[in-house]
Amino acid sequence: MGADRLLSRLEGVKRTGPGRWIARCPAHADKRASLSIRELEDGRILVHDFAQCSVHEVLAAAGLDMEDLFPEREIQHGRPERRPFPAADILRCLAFEALVVASAGAAMVTGEPLSGVDRERLMLAVARIRGGLDAGGLAHG
Ligand SMILES: [Zn+2]
Repeated sequence: MGADRLLSRLEGVKRTGPGRWIARCPAHADKRASLSIRELEDGRILVHDFAQCSVHEVLAAAGLDMEDLFPEREIQHGRPERRPFPAADILRCLAFEALVVASAGAAMVTGEPLSGVDRERLMLAVARIRGGLDAGGLAHG
């Protein structure tokens, strides 16, 4: 069982290490892999979408429930993961956001005004990158 149940329902799954994958998020039109999946040693499965869909939205789109992220046996003492997702996976998911920020920066250097849409997309990129800090357990120092 483990993460297979979830992974079999996702597209663009790529294994990035032992118990770690990235995939396209089923809850939004994901052109690249925004979803990071991790299977912990105790069998719990962590899911984080860098485009900010909630775990519930991702599971609903994949036709699964929260219970599918937990192993059959009850885990009472699962310690919270201080750094749930490895930095390399977070960077893979956020690489595109850096390009968004870079192109906005390049436009500003040429004195080109940012359109409302561009500005919105830039703020979204910033929010996603900040979300990466959370996923890496780095947001609170
Ligand atoms: Zn999503």
